[in-house]
Amino acid sequence: MEKLTELLEKNRDWAEKINQEDPHFFETLAQQQAPEYLWIGCSDSRVPANEIVGMLPGELFVHRNVANVVVHTDMNCLSVVQYAVEVLKVKHIMVVGHYGCGGVAASIESAPHGLIDNWLRNIRRVFQKHRQFLSTWDHSHQQLDRLCELNVIEQSVNLCETTIVQQAWANGQELNVHGWIYGLSDGLVNDLEFNASTADEVEEQYQLAMNKMRKLQELAKASDKSQQNARTLWDKVKSIFN
Ligand code: ZN
Repeated sequence: MEKLTELLEKNRDWAEKINQEDPHFFETLAQQQAPEYLWIGCSDSRVPANEIVGMLPGELFVHRNVANVVVHTDMNCLSVVQYAVEVLKVKHIMVVGHYGCGGVAASIESAPHGLIDNWLRNIRRVFQKHRQFLSTWDHSHQQLDRLCELNVIEQSVNLCETTIVQQAWANGQELNVHGWIYGLSDGLVNDLEFNASTADEVEEQYQLAMNKMRKLQELAKASDKSQQNARTLWDKVKSIFN
């Protein structure tokens, strides 16, 4: 049987490097974890949660699945959220999508992919809900960018509507839900500015996020091709709204 010797060696090197920097690191970490953040992201290997935000083990609680979906029947995701909110008492939950997401792209393909289509149906519903808005974008890559963004916003709302988050807010617990999207091509996180801290803010934040999406579209129509990438457009939208 082939052993993964190289990976095990890399593990030894990594542990040694951390030990050199802080001899008590693992000892302290083994006693407890007290992260302030829960990251709900895509399983894609190019979107490593801790590295992207420069966080060490112990600082970020993480749940990842294909295309960062939050559905109310997923016991795995809900259990992570419950533990993070009720036991760890995280203050922030980030739902983090990424541009060029293969899961999001597959959700709107007509060809069947087998079992995973049951999961991707959750994103296809997002597509169907926003079909008219998406159809007004000229290029398929722009439509995919927007669907990746819309998926983050919709999944953030789903998260806010879980009994766990609703209960935490009803109890007066500090808990903020954020919608982010990561760019594979530049390594930067784009804050989609869906930020809800109370149950009352969810609808307002959703409408605000959708208004920004519509503004993005106006700007894309008005600008030339070289200025149509997601980052440039979002920077302009933010300068208008903030
Ligand atoms: Zn993905």
